[in-house]
Amino acid sequence: MINFDYQRATNVAEAIRLIGGDPKARFIAGGTNLVDLMKSDVEKPSRLIDISRLPLNTIEATAGGGLRIGALVPNSDVAYHPLVAERYPLVASAILAGASAQLRNMASTGGNLLQRTRCPYFYDTATPCNKREPGSGCSALEGLNRGHAILGASTSCIAIHPSDMCVALIALDAKVHVAGPAGDRVIAFADFHRLPGNTPQHETNLAREEIITAIELPERGFARNHSYLKIRDRLSYAFALVSVAAALELEGGTIRQARLALGGVAHKPWRDNTAEASLRGKPADEASFRTAADILLRDAKGYAHNSFKIELARRAIIRTLSQAARGTPQSQSTKKIT
Ligand SMILES: Cc1cc2nc3c(=O)[nH]c(=O)nc-3n(C[C@H](O)[C@H](O)[C@H](O)COP(=O)(O)OP(=O)(O)OC[C@H]3O[C@@H](n4cnc5c(N)ncnc54)[C@H](O)[C@@H]3O)c2cc1C
Ligand code: SF4
Repeated sequence: MINFDYQRATNVAEAIRLIGGDPKARFIAGGTNLVDLMKSDVEKPSRLIDISRLPLNTIEATAGGGLRIGALVPNSDVAYHPLVAERYPLVASAILAGASAQLRNMASTGGNLLQRTRCPYFYDTATPCNKREPGSGCSALEGLNRGHAILGASTSCIAIHPSDMCVALIALDAKVHVAGPAGDRVIAFADFHRLPGNTPQHETNLAREEIITAIELPERGFARNHSYLKIRDRLSYAFALVSVAAALELEGGTIRQARLALGGVAHKPWRDNTAEASLRGKPADEASFRTAADILLRDAKGYAHNSFKIELARRAIIRTLSQAARGTPQSQSTKKIT
């Protein structure tokens, strides 16, 4: 049993002040990841700063034609919001592919970005893990690495980022609004998460004393031609082995704009501008999709138990782009479960 203090912040400035005053303090929002980590002795905060009642729980249209989603809006409220369902169905599909109805009701938008990896060695304090204990080694390199990275990994860490929602957000060029002691700033989604390099303990470019306040979606939502496909061991309540977010803008049978992002394959949601560029101006057919997949996976590298993911990713990319082009997205239930 670890003792810790608990404080509830009443406004954003107070939350920033409280976290700044204690280097071992952590924010808690829905608690669906942090509490599990505390139970496993992976996280041992001296103090929990409860941000769950901060006024960051609204979804509003922006003056620029986009949408601003408060960091404390539950994942389920994002997925079922009429503007998200209508204009950003890629985001709704990705959220509904994750976790369970109960978890989505608790999980916050900001917490989803900051959820930690599901590498089993990270959760097992009896094993070496550079992410949990820098310098101790990586048990997954020679261990059970079936669910691990095939892109952007390092010899320090081959873990993946497990979020579904983040794959759709990076594909749509979302922005992350944060506040901290030095004021507010905006981080492009592609720059928010980091590759492991030799510091896998640093997973994002958010400073410890900063708080996520909102996610902003730009005007373009690719509602007509999109699809989110999640390949996993079970149909629900399982993390992605490979997931693909695809969005296209078509003119006749020709691709004008393309977005392509992958989950379950790297330490961050993976987007490849070169693969997207290869699609622009090309016919929306299997040959173009196969070329894009080959480009995206050009540097993919498997380990003892996960090389199958490379071919799985190739096929998933082609299938998801085909679904997007046909306007027949991988369907998700839109019936709200309370
Ligand atoms: C059994 C299970 C299955 C799951 N399956 C999936 C899945 O298939 N797909 C998927 O995407 N996710 C899945 N999840 C993960 C779930 O989506 C996350 O746990 C959830 O999104 C985290 O949000 P939270 O509000 O509960 O975060 P918390 O647990 O409260 O916090 C997580 C981290 O974020 C920090 N934090 C939270 N909010 C902020 C903020 N606004 N600013 C700064 N720091 C903040 C906390 O300090 C903590 O470090 C699953 C979780 C469980 C337990
Ligand atoms: S892959 Fe990363 S999280 Fe997993 S054991 Fe290695 S260092 Fe730890």
